[in-house]
Amino acid sequence: MMESLIRVRDLLNPYAYLDVTVFDPSPNPWCGPNYAPDMPEALTNVYTSDMSVRYWDTEHVADWLKANGYAHFVGTMFAPRAIIGKYFQDSAKKSIACMNAFEYIREQATKVTLSDCVAVETPTRNYKFDYVVLCTGGATSSDPYGLQGQDNFFSTPYPLKETLNSIGAEERVGIIGSGLSAVDLTLGLIAKNHRGPITLMSRRGLLPSVRRPPVKYSLQYFTVKGVEDIVAAKGSLSIRDLIKLTYRELDHAGASKQEIIDEVLSERYGIDRLRHQMARLDDGEIADQLCIKILATACEDAWYFLSCAEKKYLYSNFRHIVYSLCCPMPKHRAAQILRLADSGQLSILRGLRSVSKDEQGHFVAFAEGNSIIRFDRVFSAISGENRPSPMALPIIEGLLKTGQASPHPLGGLNVERTTSRLIDAHNRPQTRLYALGNTVSGALYIFNGVFLLARRSAHVAQSILEYQKNTETARHSPRSIYA
Ligand SMILES: Cc1cc2nc3c(=O)[nH]c(=O)nc-3n(C[C@H](O)[C@H](O)[C@H](O)COP(=O)(O)OP(=O)(O)OC[C@H]3O[C@@H](n4cnc5c(N)ncnc54)[C@H](O)[C@@H]3O)c2cc1C
Repeated sequence: MMESLIRVRDLLNPYAYLDVTVFDPSPNPWCGPNYAPDMPEALTNVYTSDMSVRYWDTEHVADWLKANGYAHFVGTMFAPRAIIGKYFQDSAKKSIACMNAFEYIREQATKVTLSDCVAVETPTRNYKFDYVVLCTGGATSSDPYGLQGQDNFFSTPYPLKETLNSIGAEERVGIIGSGLSAVDLTLGLIAKNHRGPITLMSRRGLLPSVRRPPVKYSLQYFTVKGVEDIVAAKGSLSIRDLIKLTYRELDHAGASKQEIIDEVLSERYGIDRLRHQMARLDDGEIADQLCIKILATACEDAWYFLSCAEKKYLYSNFRHIVYSLCCPMPKHRAAQILRLADSGQLSILRGLRSVSKDEQGHFVAFAEGNSIIRFDRVFSAISGENRPSPMALPIIEGLLKTGQASPHPLGGLNVERTTSRLIDAHNRPQTRLYALGNTVSGALYIFNGVFLLARRSAHVAQSILEYQKNTETARHSPRSIYA
């Protein structure tokens, strides 16, 4: 957000006075929970080339990696997230130097109220700003079977460097979830020389798919403009339109439609599916990679225009497969997972129904068609990301109560697509209140990623600086905040 503010200020109004205050009580400023110091097994889920804080300058991250001794992670590589956290911290320091004024408040913002300015409360003080941007992230833990408080249960795998410390090398570890966090955790355990059995358990037993080789291709049809054109012509957008647009793009690129149909409708799961994907990794097909490009380029805008009923349908029936396909794991990780499975140490359990504790203090998992399995330790590796951060709830509830924001039927707050302005109870976009990321999950968000946030932050910056210029309210220094 800060990088975008600076860029738009320099482009639109170089004399604008940029005075930014950031609120965050996090012990690791600028890293959030996901890029804080941790074991190297907590790995980026996209190429490092997609981790730039400047959406207009993808080399920014590459330059930093090269200058800081991490040249081997440049480009279509994956880096420990803690290294990316250092990049974020360094970038923030440089951004601060480009502000006219800056303050970092290590406190939780508890209330945001709009009048002629925007007031922000913390437990100790009140502040006034011209604009507020909520960048409060998502929940970091989950507890689908009500195990919180039980000894030896962890509601999040992170930070691995702490949660893995107490695990005995021979203990039986159960992991709820079979996505990227479950893979981080499994490989973290192995890095700690874990010898006991590890079981990944979920309803569908789907692992992240394996990343195919990168392809160079610029989307021609399934772009934000392509989506907007359909809406302009028809007044609406449907899943059928999106399928047609996808097929048009795949045809144009000479990619196989069947490849995608097979992936989406496949009955395979777990290790069988992974093995199947590994065997076909170098067959020259590019449909998967194009679909990832489509998701990264236009999914938020397409999602925004779909009807609530269609969003709900997609969410309930295809979210798991989209998650599995959109952030595939690198080939070397998939190979490690296969080796562990072949050695008998790792199993994937599908049809999970419940996890509880028995009278002997062991965890007991029950899955359809399986006998019960006992564990010494259980982790939940299900991302809480689609829920707002609990720390943000007082702000969100306050804004809803006063009608200064409105709820989206699928969760989070309503937001204007092209500016990220919050929409109030009377359906009016607020000119001083903005939100990015998980806070607007129902309206915009299918999956979260730095490259998507970086792009949206540019909309916010543009909107703030244009509004400021048009209304010429620069009576005093404009202060924007990011919480
Ligand atoms: C395990 C995991 C791994 C991921 N890996 C990647 C990846 O490799 N690449 C990628 O692009 N995306 C990844 N993501 C997606 C990730 O969510 C985004 O990349 C990014 O971290 C989101 O940034 P954010 O600023 O919206 O939220 P966050 O990074 O979560 O930051 C939100 C911050 O707001 C603070 N906060 C919350 N409420 C308040 C309040 N009331 N007052 C003050 N401060 C507050 C929190 O302390 C926190 O520091 C990952 C997500 C998860 C869960």
